[in-house]
Amino acid sequence: MTTPFSYEALPMRVIFGAGQLEAIAAEVEQLGLRRVMVLSTPRGRDLAQRVADLLGPVAVGIFDGARMHVPVETAAAAGDAVNVVGADGCVAIGGGSTIGLGKALALRNGLPIIAVPTTYAGSEMTPVWGLTENSRKQTGRDIRVLPRSVIYDPELTVALPQNVSGTSGLNAIAHAVEALYAPDRSPIMSLLAEDGVRSLARSLPRVVADGSDLDARSDALRGAWFCGACLGATTMGLHHKICHVLGGTFDLPHAETHAVVLPYVAAMRLAEEPDAAAAMRRALETDSPAQALADLAAWVGAPTSLAELGLQEADLDVVVEAVLANQYSKPVAKGELETLLRRALHGGPDGPTPT
Ligand code: NAD
Repeated sequence: MTTPFSYEALPMRVIFGAGQLEAIAAEVEQLGLRRVMVLSTPRGRDLAQRVADLLGPVAVGIFDGARMHVPVETAAAAGDAVNVVGADGCVAIGGGSTIGLGKALALRNGLPIIAVPTTYAGSEMTPVWGLTENSRKQTGRDIRVLPRSVIYDPELTVALPQNVSGTSGLNAIAHAVEALYAPDRSPIMSLLAEDGVRSLARSLPRVVADGSDLDARSDALRGAWFCGACLGATTMGLHHKICHVLGGTFDLPHAETHAVVLPYVAAMRLAEEPDAAAAMRRALETDSPAQALADLAAWVGAPTSLAELGLQEADLDVVVEAVLANQYSKPVAKGELETLLRRALHGGPDGPTPT
């Protein structure tokens, strides 16, 4: 029997396919925008310029100062830039950092966003915003920050370095894993989660072997879309809580942290959630999905311990306290959390218990 659930579809358009960046002008017109600010990181400036060229006079500026975790100072500077030129909308082209900046502008200045993701992080599919002030990241949900339109163009991901591709893909898989046992899971999101994991697990090794393999890039981006949709529609759990603490308090890098932590949390949670475990076994074609996630992380060259990312034994008490202080969904016992974190800290042969 289907477990009772409620599900609300999020309103947005998705354009998918190699070369579809060319559709950007039509998307801008469709939204009725006349003066658009293009957002990017400093490294993504060339792509932002390409968007501006495609838009012609409708592009009234480029703000290329996007930074990880959206510092409030960056959001304020972008807000000023938008006001100076009188922009009525934004195109955010880049990874989660750039799309996060677009969301901050949607929140602050009420501007509609078109997102053109170039990593697999998934922010473009969610109404979740984040802002960092004094080393503390605040997040919230607000439908106004959901991009109106998303263009997924696998050609734009060909330049994503292989190590970033691998960890970013594991970041996406983490959204799907936690959606499978989320308290607000639904059959439609569980289908997307399973297929998203399947797409990424089969494509990431190919992407890492040959970053220019457009077929593999397309499969990975499709998986990222599905996994991002899971993030947008369900409540994340222990894995995301741990990663948010490690990123927010210890400044550990976002995607790499997800890649290290995921197999450990999956080993714990999938052992408690038979339906989620069955979906993961089907998606990964294995009887040991947590171990398969660890193997995938190693295959794509992701770091395998939190120690490699700079965390120290002495930091663990702070992490435990912060995770327990504000848990996202199903609570975890202190002793279990300590064991999990200690194993993730050291990695290696003490890795996740196969599920
Ligand atoms: P990122 O956006 O910081 O990108 C990582 C690096 O890759 C950057 O230097 C960027 O310039 C570069 N890059 C991006 N695309 C590239 C490409 N195609 N070719 C070459 N280089 C490229 O990292 P991310 O992992 O995409 O995003 C992480 C941020 O997004 C974090 O702040 C995280 O909290 C946030 N996030 C938010 C949500 C949400 O729903 N709000 C979801 C996922 C992630």
